[in-house]
Amino acid sequence: MELAKLTTRQVDALSRDLPVIIPVAAVEQHGPHLPVFTDSLLLGEVVRRAQLACADDGLFLPLMWLGNSHHHLDFAGTLSGDPRLWIDLMSGLVENMLTHGFKRLLVINGHGGNCVPVNQALFELKQTHRNETDLLLLGATYWTLGEKSKSVSNPASKPVSKPRDQLLQTQMGHACEWETSMVLQIDPESVGEYQTLPDVSMEGSFEPSVRAWVTQERSLAGYIGYPRAASANKGEFLLNRFSEGLVNLIKEVKQWDGKSWATPSRS
Ligand SMILES: [Zn+2]
Repeated sequence: MELAKLTTRQVDALSRDLPVIIPVAAVEQHGPHLPVFTDSLLLGEVVRRAQLACADDGLFLPLMWLGNSHHHLDFAGTLSGDPRLWIDLMSGLVENMLTHGFKRLLVINGHGGNCVPVNQALFELKQTHRNETDLLLLGATYWTLGEKSKSVSNPASKPVSKPRDQLLQTQMGHACEWETSMVLQIDPESVGEYQTLPDVSMEGSFEPSVRAWVTQERSLAGYIGYPRAASANKGEFLLNRFSEGLVNLIKEVKQWDGKSWATPSRS
């Protein structure tokens, strides 16, 4: 169910063991061919599909579109919360739901720059609530879901069909094959010329070290990856895979016994 559509009395009547899903994304430059709202648009679609499949299994909060995107600020149209402020904003939002008594909170993220601050916010909250053993604080980024997730808890779900074309990328880039494909599938009119864009390497630097970066050091055009390889078919495949992964994760959160460390369907 959607929090935004409920009255305070209806929220109060809910089981406090109901998984709470908190979607957070971004508004930031996505190269010359995708809208700045891309991350919010895509996470919104993944969550919408998941919600259709398991509406009664979770309480879905409205999507928070302000992300931590300072590394894209050299490009016009990017909006970003200051990193430290953003961690506090995130903690505060989750803490609100703890105040209302909810125990199982899942932050579902749609932007790479939010990964570290989401984890930091959840780790800090856990230290504050360290004696509450029935508390489950989870963070997940949507494009890491789906591929390896099992459908043990959801035997009715069908295996995801293969895309008609083959994916070139094996991981998410930025305004890349994956994101361009998904936007092509859900809002094709917002996609500019992408088929002639030259590839931008997705290779890391000094790995396994993590190198701090701003986008213009890696890509003057603002994208990273192979947008030319995008197609709506691939987009549908990816959206299906990620939303199914989110459904399975929500069901696992629901099945948790309220105390164990192990994941329910994998123990
Ligand atoms: Zn993006």
